[in-house]
Amino acid sequence: MNARARAITAEQPAELRAAGTDLSERRRSGVSRGRLIDVQSSPDMKGVAWDDSGAARIGALTSIAEVANDPRVADAYPGLAGAAKGLATPQIRHVATVGGNLAQRSRCWYYRNPQTMCLKKGDPICPARAGNHLYGVAFDLGPCVAPHPSTLAAALLAYDATVMTNLRAMLAITDLLGDGSNGLVDNLLQPGEIIKSVHLPPPLANERALYKRAISRSRAEWPLVEIVARATISDGSFELLRLVAGGVAPVPLRLFAAEAAAQGAPVNQSTIAEMANQALSGAMPLPMTRYKLALMKGLVRDVFERLLLAECGHE
Ligand SMILES: Cc1cc2nc3c(=O)[nH]c(=O)nc-3n(C[C@H](O)[C@H](O)[C@H](O)COP(=O)(O)OP(=O)(O)OC[C@H]3O[C@@H](n4cnc5c(N)ncnc54)[C@H](O)[C@@H]3O)c2cc1C
Repeated sequence: MNARARAITAEQPAELRAAGTDLSERRRSGVSRGRLIDVQSSPDMKGVAWDDSGAARIGALTSIAEVANDPRVADAYPGLAGAAKGLATPQIRHVATVGGNLAQRSRCWYYRNPQTMCLKKGDPICPARAGNHLYGVAFDLGPCVAPHPSTLAAALLAYDATVMTNLRAMLAITDLLGDGSNGLVDNLLQPGEIIKSVHLPPPLANERALYKRAISRSRAEWPLVEIVARATISDGSFELLRLVAGGVAPVPLRLFAAEAAAQGAPVNQSTIAEMANQALSGAMPLPMTRYKLALMKGLVRDVFERLLLAECGHE
């Protein structure tokens, strides 16, 4: 590690630890060097609770496996259960927590390498931008070109979920993660702020939802692109739509133009094709990430075709 990197990492403030699956790798490499404080459990921070309206509250220390395997979560929020089931490995999911997933740090290899400096470690430039950014963003929305790593954040954004911390209530996912314009951080948590729970609205009648990812190997890898889609259909037309992409921008992205293209339109192949085209609105790929746009377009089509098969009772 060079002297500058050593000086910066030595000044780091204390960091929270939940299951430590993200943190331990940064400790081993020396990228995280401050004091550690274990997140203290309280009854509201564990497990999934339901209110009378059918809405779920998920404690921040709930394991990802618990979310993935809870049949009531799968029934009410299939896009969230699918995202939880699809991420990392069974071993990681068994211990990793919902709060830790939302607050995990970037997977960028320049950030994780103790020998290199980057924006997130206090340097003025992002070395991936002019360097190797093969897994970088395809929507270049800020100075750091690493995509946000949290799969659960993408799913929770699609469900309009809010986050409760020890300091603030009702934080939308966009309040928690920002808009990607601050390349120094992966979230907007304040010093000492602890995620306590995640709150989902009640599921809508006749809603269907799906999570899919494009990935470079079948497991144990962050996705190249991931899509969470929710839809309700009324009289053969799309009614409510939520379409969120992960792996392509410094924060999970709600694809407003694609949603607008299908809102009120007939449920058919041409609407789905238009949605897939519009999903790329605002894309600004880097020289090495243009391939993500083709993946994204294909995933949007795939997800909606599967949702419609489910509508016809085929899935
Ligand atoms: C091979 C592999 C593949 C993976 N694939 C994916 C993937 O596809 N998608 C994905 O989303 N993740 C993926 N992960 C990452 C994994 O999901 C995270 O490591 C895990 O969710 C972190 O949870 P944790 O409880 O271990 O957090 P920790 O490692 O304990 O903490 C992570 C960060 O969150 C902070 N933190 C933890 N809890 C709180 C809290 N309650 N309030 C505030 N801050 C907190 C910590 O300070 C730390 O900075 C993968 C990991 C591996 C090893």
